[in-house]
Amino acid sequence: MRLPLFSVFFIALTIVNSQDKYPKNVFANPLDIPLVLAGTFGELRSNHFHAGIDIKTQRRQGLPVYSIADGTVTRIKISHWGYGKAIYVAHPNGYNSVYAHLQKFSPEIEAYIKKEQYRKKSYQVEVFPDYGELEVKKEAVIAYSGNTGGSSGPHLHFEIRSSVTEKPTNPLFYGYEVRDATNPTLVGLFGYPLSENAQINQNANKIQLNFTKQSDGTFLADKVTALGTIGFGFNGFDRQDMAENKNGVYSVKQTVNGKVHSKYKFETFSFGETRYINTLIDYAHFGKFKQRIQKCFKDETNKLNIYESLYLDGKILVQEGFDYKVVLEIADIMNNTITVVIPVEGKKESLKREKKILKTDNYILANKPNSYDLDAAKVYFPPSTFYNDFFIDLEKGADTVTIHNNTVAVHRNFTITFDTDKFPKEEHKRLFIARIDDKGNLRHNKTYKRGNTFTTRTKTLGSYTMAKDTVAPKIRPKNFKPKEWLSNYRYLSLKITDDLSGINTYSATINGNWVLMEYEPKTNTITYNFDDKIENETQCDLKVVVTDNVGNSTTFEQTFFRK
Ligand SMILES: [Zn+2]
Repeated sequence: MRLPLFSVFFIALTIVNSQDKYPKNVFANPLDIPLVLAGTFGELRSNHFHAGIDIKTQRRQGLPVYSIADGTVTRIKISHWGYGKAIYVAHPNGYNSVYAHLQKFSPEIEAYIKKEQYRKKSYQVEVFPDYGELEVKKEAVIAYSGNTGGSSGPHLHFEIRSSVTEKPTNPLFYGYEVRDATNPTLVGLFGYPLSENAQINQNANKIQLNFTKQSDGTFLADKVTALGTIGFGFNGFDRQDMAENKNGVYSVKQTVNGKVHSKYKFETFSFGETRYINTLIDYAHFGKFKQRIQKCFKDETNKLNIYESLYLDGKILVQEGFDYKVVLEIADIMNNTITVVIPVEGKKESLKREKKILKTDNYILANKPNSYDLDAAKVYFPPSTFYNDFFIDLEKGADTVTIHNNTVAVHRNFTITFDTDKFPKEEHKRLFIARIDDKGNLRHNKTYKRGNTFTTRTKTLGSYTMAKDTVAPKIRPKNFKPKEWLSNYRYLSLKITDDLSGINTYSATINGNWVLMEYEPKTNTITYNFDDKIENETQCDLKVVVTDNVGNSTTFEQTFFRK
């Protein structure tokens, strides 16, 4: 097919300026304060890229959250972790907006979701209202900002997704204004010998490179000598004007002698691919130092579609006698860019450091199933649990097994199975599989019990053991005393804690009627809102039952008065 000349030109333009396909200035602000970000789109998080922007709410909760356009609520979800209280709105122009970590919803939506919570007798709920059932207008208050779920401080998590692909897109493409004239910050620069005999500065292992800031503002690395196929990586962050937060950068471009070898940017990604972040970062480095190096080359196992341009997968083939000028351009979405120049000289030298490879008796072929008997437990890795083949370090023990360590990324669940034969039968109920974390604390893992076989599924490498929890949860009132008059109280709150396996269920009744307790695990608090008006008599007999993850249960009963 021959295209008329103007359409060729048009296609070229769209590729150059892919941001232009997003509608500008049609969406209202979700908050009526200036947008200052505590998190950017695509920011590197644990096992995922950040799917939206985090808007700071001036250390406060309860700021009105506005629908960014006319639309209909398609989903409301309330969970202890993750997004906490979240609302999803579909707009007629092909986009959905998502608002998360909310304190509460607007009165109409709050009534709608409470009805569902009382029907299901559960704080955690997820509902998908019919199209048109809960319509909202542009700039109408739909909720109030909060700190619910996996949020470590008050902010609004805000997303704009394509309603066709359901992929999140960068919310800053839609014309929202953020004040940012500040360049990204370069923290560290690293070189990677990649091929069998590759070397950088007489070293066959990853090596940190020194760099200095030049008078023109660019960064210049000390010249490196190298041979074979190599790659580079960096760690850094972006800061906005007037904000201390370390946010993620937007785009990374690497050229070699003027030719683009790799370029990626955070325009959009799919939730299905987000875990491949562990192939973009140097995972071993992250496991050891909790610091994320972004690689400028793409591993074979990396399935991310964030790359705009790739040549030799971003790797550099260095030959003896040739010079290479490697340039990294690291930018935020406002185009504030830092330039890093790495001069490379192709030179064969004697190695001062040979390649370090941990060798053990057990070699994992990543695309095959692998299973091991470790005495206390058996471990089974389905095919593609791991990205790469490697020597796995396994330690057998009478009670505890150690399955490598967190320097290797895990893509899907593997199973660990303990035989509980040696434990007295009557103890089985209180036993569970626990992971021993870095600090030596026992972490409950959801344990599937079948006869004497206890199984757990996990994506975390490390030490596992059988643990026993015989202590029931504790329940303590926070804001009231026995036989007290609470007529002017707006809330009833209690502290619930468990010493080991953790809280599994909680429920409360007043005079026998179920009441909604909102659970905030971060503060170990459950709260009843008197606006729900469940108490129908002056004398209110409160009963709270809390169970832990192995079934130890505590009941708390107390009477208060109210009229
Ligand atoms: Zn967020």
